[in-house]
Amino acid sequence: MAESPVVVVTGPSGAGKGTLESVVLARMPELALAISATTRPRRATEENGREYWFIPLEEFERRVREGEFLEWVTYVSGHRYGTLRSEIDRIRGLGKVPLLDLEIEGALHVRDTVDGAVTIFVDAPSFAELERRLRDRATESSGEIHERLELAREQQKQAGEFDHVIVNDDVERAADELQAIVEGALHRV
Ligand code: 5GP
Repeated sequence: MAESPVVVVTGPSGAGKGTLESVVLARMPELALAISATTRPRRATEENGREYWFIPLEEFERRVREGEFLEWVTYVSGHRYGTLRSEIDRIRGLGKVPLLDLEIEGALHVRDTVDGAVTIFVDAPSFAELERRLRDRATESSGEIHERLELAREQQKQAGEFDHVIVNDDVERAADELQAIVEGALHRV
């Protein structure tokens, strides 16, 4: 039987992964976003169960122990983020393909452990642009922005680890590229 695909989108904070994903999800009903669990505080614009499942650390740790996560990491400011196996099952149960938005470590883990994973690195056109986008977003404190920028410098060096790299210079163009990659992956299986 052909392996069932999983699309993984990764890249530094501020590269615009989320925007590209929204465009492609709206265009491709066969794709569905896997909602991760996180211990980071909910932002004012976010809703529990829409961007993330926001859960306390104790619950996150218990669910790790119980093997509920496909992958999980400790990321910026010590917050945990993880992909629940139940999300993958739920999406596949709908006959759809899961789209995972992961930081690099989690993306590499899925690349190495999940058959049928297609990995895509989304980058900003330059470091200056990444910094500008992160500051404009201004959802993080300045300390966290600094931490995310330092991380981004390291992360940009890892682009070559992934199947595809998209430079998000223009949302429409980059979304077309992401859609073409995903369609290519879906038709391969
Ligand atoms: P944010 O706090 O801005 O929502 O997300 C920070 C980073 O966490 C993003 O790069 C996002 O891709 C990553 N992320 C979100 N959910 C998961 C997850 O379930 N696993 C991993 N490894 N990374 C995640």
